[in-house]
Amino acid sequence: MVDLVSQYEKIQPQVQSEINSVLANAQFINGPAVHEFQADLEKYLGVKHVIPCANGTDALQIAMMALGLKPGDEVITPSYTYIATTEVMGLLRLKPVFVDCDPKTFNVSPAAIRKAITAKTKAIVPVHLYGQSCDMDEIMKIAKEYSLFVIEDNAQAIGCDYHSADGSVRKTGTIGDFGCTSFFPSKNLGCYGDGGAICTNDDDLASKARMVANHGQSKRYYHDVVGCNSRLDTIQAAVLKIKLAHLDEYIDERRKAADYYDKSFAMESKLTTPFRDPSNKHVFHQYTLQLTDDVDRDALVAFLGEHDVPAMIYYPVPAHKQKMFATLETECGDLTTTDWLTTRVFSLPMHTELTEEQLAFICNKVKEFLNR
Ligand SMILES: *Cc1c(COP(=O)(O)O)cnc(C)c1O
Repeated sequence: MVDLVSQYEKIQPQVQSEINSVLANAQFINGPAVHEFQADLEKYLGVKHVIPCANGTDALQIAMMALGLKPGDEVITPSYTYIATTEVMGLLRLKPVFVDCDPKTFNVSPAAIRKAITAKTKAIVPVHLYGQSCDMDEIMKIAKEYSLFVIEDNAQAIGCDYHSADGSVRKTGTIGDFGCTSFFPSKNLGCYGDGGAICTNDDDLASKARMVANHGQSKRYYHDVVGCNSRLDTIQAAVLKIKLAHLDEYIDERRKAADYYDKSFAMESKLTTPFRDPSNKHVFHQYTLQLTDDVDRDALVAFLGEHDVPAMIYYPVPAHKQKMFATLETECGDLTTTDWLTTRVFSLPMHTELTEEQLAFICNKVKEFLNR
């Protein structure tokens, strides 16, 4: 699904020299690269504060803690997402309110959010799934109307531009109260281990998040709130600093691969290629297609596997059907689209190193199966 070795080979000398300099001065925690990467990312995203942390799941947890969300508070979230989004709600004993997504974009439906609001609702967590922005104009409007916090799960969409109706263009993850991202190796901006970050334009929220991520510490050895220990280490920051400079190229490579797939599948009636909102640049963390009801998805995935074409199902089980929530307090809206999509989607290889030859082979194998 990814080819991180070929990507690394292109930046190898730079990466090795940066890692060597971290090793040479042994500032493994909070070394200069952490601050440099933080500043570079703030500039790239056009956001006031970036708070680096250990991974994307921690980023979500820290954001929810920094906002002071309490057990029993209702948080509206899509069920159709990676488990980390909702798992942290379970951990903090918040009450996830699972709502449906849009069948075209796979992103959380603003109309469904609106319907799910109660007196106990405190926050909305939109997920920019597969690299495409949610309808942030509408989500921010609802949030303002009901005084709700917005935490964007931007783990799959770093670098994505959101165009508002008023003509402004902002990066996803910088629009809500907090944006949370992950630098897991296979993400669009991935490090060589685990990493994550929280973004905000609010000074007060930034210092709260910093404090939560650092043992609730306001100054050294003075711990005002219960926090956690979540840091981005210096070696990962050094790698990310180099890779951030290539992020726009990486996005272009992904979009080129997506264009190839789109074109190749244009005449296929048994599948639907990803919807692309013309005003929003999809950054294609995943290339996820929908199959018509008559296609045996398992057989397709098995057939592709037999020909060394990896294909994945993101995600086979939506959050509201996960066992982890069986004993926790949750609420479900109408999840018809979510339940249907989880039986019909599949994802093809998507990364920065796909060659035309590989793409042609993958497309031919998919078509061969659909037309046999
Ligand atoms: C990857 C991912 C996360 C979690 O990131 P980690 O760094 O693996 O903890 C959260 N949400 C979404 C949507 C993700 O894709």
